[in-house]
Amino acid sequence: MTHSLLCLAGDGIGPEVMAATKDVVAAVSDVFSIDFDVEDDLVGGASYDVHGIPVTDTVIEKARNASAVLFGAVGGPQYDDVDYAKRPEQGLLDLRKQLDLFANLRPAICFGPLASASSLKTDLIEGLDILIVRELTSGVYFGEPRGISRDADGKRVGVNTQRYTEDEIARTARVAFELARTRAGRVMSVEKGNVMESGKLWRQVVTEIHADENYGDVDLQHMYADNCAMQLVRAPKQFDVIVTDNLFGDMLSDQASMLTGSIGMLPSASLGQPDAHGCNPALYEPVHGSAPDIAGKGLANPCACILSFAMALQYSLGEQAAARAIFAAVDKVLADGVRTADIAGDTDTPVSTADMARAIITKIRA
Ligand code: NAD
Repeated sequence: MTHSLLCLAGDGIGPEVMAATKDVVAAVSDVFSIDFDVEDDLVGGASYDVHGIPVTDTVIEKARNASAVLFGAVGGPQYDDVDYAKRPEQGLLDLRKQLDLFANLRPAICFGPLASASSLKTDLIEGLDILIVRELTSGVYFGEPRGISRDADGKRVGVNTQRYTEDEIARTARVAFELARTRAGRVMSVEKGNVMESGKLWRQVVTEIHADENYGDVDLQHMYADNCAMQLVRAPKQFDVIVTDNLFGDMLSDQASMLTGSIGMLPSASLGQPDAHGCNPALYEPVHGSAPDIAGKGLANPCACILSFAMALQYSLGEQAAARAIFAAVDKVLADGVRTADIAGDTDTPVSTADMARAIITKIRA
């Protein structure tokens, strides 16, 4: 079976970390005898420069039909004066919307060799492996009414609406339960049902899906979002999968991922709804942006993009052994003291993007 990978490198350091990742794809193909059909296309500023828009319908259609999309990063100061609708970042938003990528997966994994770099005590985060499932296409960032208007006294009023349908909550809960089954089997559902009706509904629906759709093998618990924020810094290892809405997920996933070190190490995935033809859209991308300050210098850490490919192997391609091999290779390379500048200590000599990828490939082939 051949897996089709659509690589959208984008702008800034996107092409550099994508090139490094494609070398890892080739090595994984060799070592695990997996066939990949790799295709490149344009997104973000790179697409705007050629087509005048940050993503074309052709690319969206290719993304819909690919086994997985690997995305680099988009944006840059040269596009600051472009209309919002045509900005590079809009290309990513369009892809998410058109493919209905409603479940955002953000792992917070602590690689042992980087544990001492965390702002938390080493024993609190050593071995940490949390997966946050954030609803990505609804909630307060999209709810209507929204805007700034004037009240009867002429004073300005800012309004946003937190709105969730039960179907939106249910499909996110299913993703969390399914993923928990492949991990430690525990889901913490997070909302603020004590003060928000949408949170109350969130808890009800998650509880119903758990009971009605035979997820009894998964341990389900509930927590208010403010408590979850505290628990993440008090005792983060208590969590396995956290499922939450768009707003709380935005904050909690940033908080959780920063427990473990540099932005250059953080992968993510966004999963869509399988369609009637068996297409299961999914986009894998580093959490970081295009880092214009270091673009073109060979300084970027490629690990976030490489680990995003590992997540694609894990969640879209069913290639668990290859995924595990990449995570293990990154861990071993870090244990050997290989560091890009963003994760280097005072006594380390930083390596380039390409050298980091080469070191990871050597471990995969070993
Ligand atoms: P950024 O993530 O690009 O950079 C923040 C800081 O982290 C910079 O100092 C950068 O050098 C560093 N950094 C980021 N990735 C790194 C890596 N792999 N290795 C080493 N260091 C790394 O965020 P920003 O500076 O706020 O945004 C820059 C541009 O990226 C903007 O145009 C923004 O809109 C865009 N952006 C895009 C995405 C995306 O494509 N998903 C996400 C965030 C920001």
